[in-house]
Amino acid sequence: MSLEKVKCIVCNSKNYTKFLDVQNRFDLTESYKLVTCECGLIFLNPRPIETEIYKYYQNNNYDPHIKKKKKNIFDIIYNSIKKRAFKRKFKIISKFLPFKNNLSHIDIGGGMGEFCSFMKNKGFLTQNYDSSQIAIAISMSSKINNVSSLKEVESNSIDCITGWHSIEHIHNIDSLFKNIHRVLKNEKFLFLCVPNYNSVDQQFFKDKWVAWDAPRHLYHFNPKVLNKLLENYKFKVVYNESLLQDTGYNILMSMNKKSIISIIYSIFILIYSHFKILIHGYQKSSSFLVVCQKQ
Ligand SMILES: [Zn+2]
Repeated sequence: MSLEKVKCIVCNSKNYTKFLDVQNRFDLTESYKLVTCECGLIFLNPRPIETEIYKYYQNNNYDPHIKKKKKNIFDIIYNSIKKRAFKRKFKIISKFLPFKNNLSHIDIGGGMGEFCSFMKNKGFLTQNYDSSQIAIAISMSSKINNVSSLKEVESNSIDCITGWHSIEHIHNIDSLFKNIHRVLKNEKFLFLCVPNYNSVDQQFFKDKWVAWDAPRHLYHFNPKVLNKLLENYKFKVVYNESLLQDTGYNILMSMNKKSIISIIYSIFILIYSHFKILIHGYQKSSSFLVVCQKQ
């Protein structure tokens, strides 16, 4: 395993301090360091190099890349949460992009192409962009077009770009955002969703919070620091929203399902989180969605 030390992707600083040690949830013998920068970004440092990161996605339990035949109760809850989240995301997209036939869409880190399928059914010309060969093979078997590099995409040609829980996985953020800015049509929108380290569930679960997901998640944002990153690449945040479905999912995945005490404790966190989100909105939710406009 080769590790690399990195600078902050938001302010380019090397002025970071230790934040938390977290385990790889699929291999508890592996521990990683999270550091916090003065600008507010938390990131994995050191981190596995880009050419070796695929090894950490090959676990049979990594949800976004598995298509199960036999489903247990947690899978059924997970799928129902996901379906509701797709509908909500589509409603937000429709607010900013009134529907016309043949609008173009790219889903960044689209995995097995489930959101692309959803958008295709709504009448979009959609393409999936993902680095996992296994996920792409499944996506292509569902007749979803695949784009292997954003560099192949024509400038100013795309109406809508989505990235649901994907930018935190990508090594070369600079190239990603420059390309997203280049391919998106002027004044059109990028829709992102990322975990929020200011959330209530993070404060309760601490190092067991599923969204640390080391070493697959390389960066951790709160609304303020994501805003700074987007400004650097000439995107203006025009809307934020909490995704309540993700709060339920993250709590479900963070809890120890074998302990009845942990399950009761998690139900308490779920209720308390909803109460805090009611007051503070997306600032306290487990993950948040941002809509940003190309400037
Ligand atoms: Zn920084």
